Amino acid sequence: MKKIIIAIDGYSSCGKSTLARQLANQLNYHYVDTGAMYRAVTLYLFQNQIDVHHPEMVSEALPQIDISFGFDEATQTQITLLNGENIENEIRINPRVASAVSDVSSISEVRRFLVKQQQTLGQNKGIVMDGRDIGTVVFPQAELKLFITAEPKIRAQRRLDELQEKGQNTTFEEVLANLEKRDHLDTTRADSPLLKAEDAIEIDNSYLSREEQLNQVLQLVNGLQMGGN
Ligand code: C5P
Repeated sequence: MKKIIIAIDGYSSCGKSTLARQLANQLNYHYVDTGAMYRAVTLYLFQNQIDVHHPEMVSEALPQIDISFGFDEATQTQITLLNGENIENEIRINPRVASAVSDVSSISEVRRFLVKQQQTLGQNKGIVMDGRDIGTVVFPQAELKLFITAEPKIRAQRRLDELQEKGQNTTFEEVLANLEKRDHLDTTRADSPLLKAEDAIEIDNSYLSREEQLNQVLQLVNGLQMGGN
């Protein structure tokens, strides 16, 4: 069967990565979480006391940053590695990362640095990649582009549940404020703002179960893998 590129974009915490992971499992494709890459750069900057508001200093640090993905046998999940160290948990729960990542991701040099790596990861197809600019910038030629949305309050509740599961003590209001701030920065930045590609299929999953959403998308993928349009 023909291997394709599946590009998934959308707002913060709308379930892109859950869908991407499910698809990669079902199709035996690679999954690349590009948000984790921007989070990893942000964490590196904090760890090395580099001011995220100084693009020149940030750019100088980029050659020292190596991001890769591994697999954790214990949890049976994909993990993100920064210079060989497992940072998966840290980039998800550290509130400083969540609050600064959209500033870091607005720096053009950071985007160029990561987009190049993302394009290399997808060159053999058979990949599901999620982020904000995958269908518009990273893979404008992707065979399937999805744009995922959900109501902000529903997204905030899902994110809160996830953080609480990981033992983080936070409130609905804090989580909602962070989502809205990131959505605003991500949609208004000058370089590669979050927007729906013209040929992307929009899915609002506010009232869809994970299974319903997955089945809808699998039908689309099956059509494309068989060589249809
Ligand atoms: O997907 P996630 O919420 O982990 O992404 C964290 C942040 O990384 C986003 O809010 C956005 O600022 C940035 N990002 C981006 N482009 C991508 C993926 C993520 O700018 N392709």
